[in-house]
Amino acid sequence: MAGSVPGTIRSEETRVFPRFLDLPYPNIERGDGVWLTTIDGRRILDACSGGAMVSCLGHGVPEIVAAAAQQAGAISYFYNHHFTSEPQERLADRLLQVAAPEMARIRFVSGGSEANETALQLARLYHVERGETDRWRVISPAQAYHGSTMGTLALSGRRTLQEPYTPYLADHLHLQPSTWRFDPSGADALRQLDALLGEAGPETIAAFFCEPVSAAALPGYSPPEAFWRGLDERRKDHGFLICFDEVVTGIGRVGTWLAAHQLPIEPDIVTVGKGLGAGHAPLGAVLCRQHVYDAIDQGSREFDLGHTWDAAPLSAAVGITVLDLLAKRGLVEHVRERGPGLLEDLGSTVAGSDIVREVRGRGFLLGVELVDPRDGTSFLPEELDAASLVDDIAFEHGLLVTSTHPQADGYAGDQVLLAPAYTSTDAELAEMIERFATTIGDVERTIKESLKNPAAGS
Ligand code: PMP
Repeated sequence: MAGSVPGTIRSEETRVFPRFLDLPYPNIERGDGVWLTTIDGRRILDACSGGAMVSCLGHGVPEIVAAAAQQAGAISYFYNHHFTSEPQERLADRLLQVAAPEMARIRFVSGGSEANETALQLARLYHVERGETDRWRVISPAQAYHGSTMGTLALSGRRTLQEPYTPYLADHLHLQPSTWRFDPSGADALRQLDALLGEAGPETIAAFFCEPVSAAALPGYSPPEAFWRGLDERRKDHGFLICFDEVVTGIGRVGTWLAAHQLPIEPDIVTVGKGLGAGHAPLGAVLCRQHVYDAIDQGSREFDLGHTWDAAPLSAAVGITVLDLLAKRGLVEHVRERGPGLLEDLGSTVAGSDIVREVRGRGFLLGVELVDPRDGTSFLPEELDAASLVDDIAFEHGLLVTSTHPQADGYAGDQVLLAPAYTSTDAELAEMIERFATTIGDVERTIKESLKNPAAGS
């Protein structure tokens, strides 16, 4: 592309090391509610809470800004190994009280990868403290994302994400997802789980790690009930822990404080992240049940390792205000009540499209699965890069959505994720759906054209 697009920055114009070196990046100057404004005044309707399902209360929330400023005026940072603070203690109490009364203890961190890495360490330590030192391996669904650190990257079975870092990654075990395409009943996944337990030896398995409702890797997908019940039985039989990655789904995203509250299974360890800081501070947390804490309490009495910014008073003050606002405004209940209608509206608006196979989700976490219009079933050819096409065309229509690229692993093709702020008005939600429908229409025309004339799409 010759020259600069107004309001964008290209890699040759910046000292920043961007994700894709050939892409121009729009330069965002402000955020207000569900609207983002570029440096040259373009307004983008944010259907994905900042793009990564984070800003659940919208951008620029005055109460959070005020709480952060007040806390920074008192103290913003100290190292959590030396001290604790009122904000940390209050956030722990509040989180347990409103969001997860079934949990016992909390370790605060600064984001999702740190939370999952810590959960992994806690699961391992739980077994070591109880004398079961052979337990280290994790079983997890293959189509998942748990973070970009080496520990968490190993938990995903997406080989294309893991390349070229595989030499650093532990050899965990993976299951196929129980989607309509592979295993609608969940029975195959349970058979695979039994086979993996048998091959590895159940006494070597530390944890089953998964997203209870998937985010970007398989937007809006959750395994059938039969799978959860079968998993619970196997935990009882074999003694591994169940860790839920609720970095996206936690703190109300699917209409309950945790997605776990909608499932017939109780995790031993849960991680939360994005919505807890709501885009106003980096914040995540690992929550565990009493028996997990007890193993360390009655063992070495030390859970070492951590991160410099764990539980910084500034982040904790933001977290308290986020929880207060969610509770005071009844926003989790609102997401629960409004979600089904949103899913229905989204589904009916794109129902006629030959490239849409499934629209799914819970609460304000919705996924749209795209397929090849020639048979309505197959993945779209990878070279069409339909996911990027959706993001780019949506952006032209002033809409921010997040699409997932096919990972060439056989489990998922192109998919789109919508995750608006819980505070979105009905008019804003309607506008998101309308702009998305227009986007899908344009993408469908472009794809059909490319399929008719392959040279045009390349
Ligand atoms: N788990 C899930 C389900 C996620 O979606 C993400 C981030 N997209 C992470 C973990 C990692 O979180 P972070 O980027 O904050 O490290």
